[in-house]
Amino acid sequence: EKTVQRIAAGEVVERPASVVKELVENSLDADAGRISVRIDGGGTEKIVIEDDGIGMSEDDVQLAVEEHTTSKIRDIDDLESGVATLGFRGEALYTIGAVARLTIRTKARGGEAGTELRLVGGDVEEIKPAGRPAGTTVEVTDLFFNTPAREKYLKTDSTEFSHVNRVVTQYALANPDVAFSLEHDGREVFSTTGQGDLQSAILSVYGREVATAMIAVGDERSEGDDERDTEDAERTELAVSGYVSHPETTRSTREYVATYVNGRYVRSSVVREAVLDAYGNQLAPDRYPFAVLFLSVPGDSVDVNVHPRKMEVRFGDEGTVRKAVRDSIENALLDDGL
Ligand code: ADP
Ligand code: MG
Repeated sequence: EKTVQRIAAGEVVERPASVVKELVENSLDADAGRISVRIDGGGTEKIVIEDDGIGMSEDDVQLAVEEHTTSKIRDIDDLESGVATLGFRGEALYTIGAVARLTIRTKARGGEAGTELRLVGGDVEEIKPAGRPAGTTVEVTDLFFNTPAREKYLKTDSTEFSHVNRVVTQYALANPDVAFSLEHDGREVFSTTGQGDLQSAILSVYGREVATAMIAVGDERSEGDDERDTEDAERTELAVSGYVSHPETTRSTREYVATYVNGRYVRSSVVREAVLDAYGNQLAPDRYPFAVLFLSVPGDSVDVNVHPRKMEVRFGDEGTVRKAVRDSIENALLDDGL
């Protein structure tokens, strides 16, 4: 039975970036003001996520690594259908613990003592007191050491790290009030201040050259919307805000379009295409802009469950989304004299 669980867990934990995503979400859930992510060897050697959140008592941490709902990952067939839609809910730590060595060091805010728990392949190996300030450190080493089939699918360290980088970047941009830092093989990749505004998060993540060339879109834009905008907003209840880069500030991959729907990071080919459309022939061939776009859409017109692990979103009304994104960026570029 352990084997089935391990294989199943290996299917859900696709790669180091999936681990990082779950652990960062836990830290955010725990009210962290600071989250540091340290990665070695693309994440297969080591992933360490440290936060200053509410932490856990000894009892809490023992519960946290247990399998919460036994039926969830019972059957591999379930994974491709319904279960994957639920993602890890309630058992990310359990699932990660099944395919790696997991150490959690934690202390509850206002708690007396800290706790260290070590889990290997899903079994608690050790639990002992540990001194530390309030918060939680989760250390994941030797990811997939017991699931060679999954390990085979991993790409090079630098590719795996680029996925991790994208995940941490997404969360840093969506949570400018949290101070994020990311390190790979001992070198700092970026750190944000946690000061609370998107512009300073963009500066920290993408650097000064990009940040100074960003143009505000939608709500963030200065007044003076034409009437058509207002009508559209009323008809669709769809709002677009954020920043896009000057057409000359580009990269050679399209991965710098970060889209958030109702606050949640998603991937959307519709949005990516609409962004490119808006620039039209202002972009050089095979060059892509930076964009950080927040879409607020009525809940019933969006289906985020299409490819949960890939986070590709499907919109009920693609045409409206496409037009709203394109129009708001076109207007922003026009306002900027482009
Ligand atoms: P879920 O997040 O869906 O509840 P997880 O397996 O990710 O499931 O986490 C289990 C529980 O462990 C959480 O509900 C939370 O109580 C606790 N926990 C996990 N990570 C942290 C953290 N960084 N700080 C405080 N508590 C945590
Ligand atoms: Mg979780």
